[in-house]
Amino acid sequence: MDLFATQNTYLALIAGENSKFITDNVELVEFARQRNAHTPPGLYFPLTCVLSLEKPLSDGSTVMMRLIGADGIANFIDRDFDLNPVTVLKAGVAARLRNDGLEHAMAKDPGRVQPMLDLYRCRTAQYALNTCCFARHPLTQRISRLLLRAGISFGRGNDITLTQEEIARLVATRRETVTDILNRFAREGVIELHRSVIRILRRDILRTHSCDCFTEEMKLEKNCAQSIASMFRGFEYGASADKRQRPNESITAGAA
Ligand SMILES: [Zn+2]
Repeated sequence: MDLFATQNTYLALIAGENSKFITDNVELVEFARQRNAHTPPGLYFPLTCVLSLEKPLSDGSTVMMRLIGADGIANFIDRDFDLNPVTVLKAGVAARLRNDGLEHAMAKDPGRVQPMLDLYRCRTAQYALNTCCFARHPLTQRISRLLLRAGISFGRGNDITLTQEEIARLVATRRETVTDILNRFAREGVIELHRSVIRILRRDILRTHSCDCFTEEMKLEKNCAQSIASMFRGFEYGASADKRQRPNESITAGAA
């Protein structure tokens, strides 16, 4: 358990504050690569999978709200997580913390209310940032930002196993536009394009191509992580999660 706690930035922070909490309350969930994965409620800490939290639009398309890898957390604490389908971009394992009674248990302790409100505020700011980015910034900047974030989320070596169709969907444009921009980046030596892998060679140049939203997003992510660490400091989950599965018992999240 301790080993996988170090695989996710957020989980590592909670483990640092309260290692027994993780041993007692976290279970492993396996995700297959799929659109609209219906996930039981809980806080998800991706260990080897990469998820995209999305918002369905009335025309049947979806828009990406956040990319979540080993550097992130998918918090379905608001209970209406069905409104925000999850796409599994890379199959793998996530650690799941059930949230049955979590909010109630948090709210009973006034010291935890403020960091929980801070977390909501940061998340809301992230979604607003994304909306503004989609509305105002050119595609070259948005694709650079996505590649930078994906480079972190996919981990090790900055190899991103996203297809050009997927990138087009995530930034809401046509595949041909993505192909043009990626080919230009490849000619400039910023990335290498392989059959099913995009390898980032020059993050520094990608940063200059990206809008400032990447820096803002990472600042907000850091604030979220600090809030989560404060929320779980010395936290006793106790009876609020009495129906939890046994730790280490692997379950598979069902497809839609
Ligand atoms: Zn932007």
